[in-house]
Amino acid sequence: MNNISLDRCCIHTITTKSWSFPQAVEQYAAAGVAGISVWQNAIEGIGPHQAGELIRKAGLDIVSYVRGGFFPHPTSSGRAKAIDHNKKLLEEAAALGAPMIVLVCGASPDQSLATSRQQIKEGIEAILPLAEKLNVKLAIEPLHPMYAADRSAINTMGQANDMAEIFQSDYVGVAVDVYHLWWDPDLEKEIARCGAHNNLLAYHVCDWKVNTLDLLNDRGLMGEGCIDLKKIRGWVEATGFDGYCEVEIFSDIHWAKDQKVFLNEITNSFVLKV
Ligand code: ZN
Repeated sequence: MNNISLDRCCIHTITTKSWSFPQAVEQYAAAGVAGISVWQNAIEGIGPHQAGELIRKAGLDIVSYVRGGFFPHPTSSGRAKAIDHNKKLLEEAAALGAPMIVLVCGASPDQSLATSRQQIKEGIEAILPLAEKLNVKLAIEPLHPMYAADRSAINTMGQANDMAEIFQSDYVGVAVDVYHLWWDPDLEKEIARCGAHNNLLAYHVCDWKVNTLDLLNDRGLMGEGCIDLKKIRGWVEATGFDGYCEVEIFSDIHWAKDQKVFLNEITNSFVLKV
């Protein structure tokens, strides 16, 4: 697998959590990174319009707005609230100038996974007309099964493909995140299937550390763990995908560092390991 250049590097703002939003934009651009995925919490003080302006002025591409979803809830009022929140996020994504939002679909330990999946389908159905109107795509991100109880009832690429294919819409697809999917024996086949249906919208990278110290906030920098990143990128690119490889690392260890040092590590490992 060939190496990759920073022209295809995008970073999620959560990756450098301690930086303010303007700081992240400035530093990414200065480091030669080409794209940015914006986490909602990062722009709470600034607002989506101004955030979009800042990003465009710095010459970065806006890759995605993170994150919507969390549709399942045991009560109908809880589900309605989630749908309203997702509509608000879609409006913000449009104001920002982001072409897609990432959906962490949700789950509730108070009901079956099958019920949660049904509610995810209904939630996407409810927001799809607005997504189409605003020209913002919905990227279903399957999450590792360790999050099945309360974060997502969509846990494999196969389940994400099943869900996306229900809609037959240019506005519903899948975000492939290696952290959640690297272990799946069907991954190559399901990535190919995703591409064959034109549903592969995004590709997220980091690494799986051995041992993982925290289920949420101990993701590895690319090269720090056991994921065969080049092999998976090869499968993704075999579908025709030539978009950004989005660096998305939640890590108490890396957040504790000087973020400038960390950014330098990210760009170095991106060109060598992704
Ligand atoms: Zn992701």
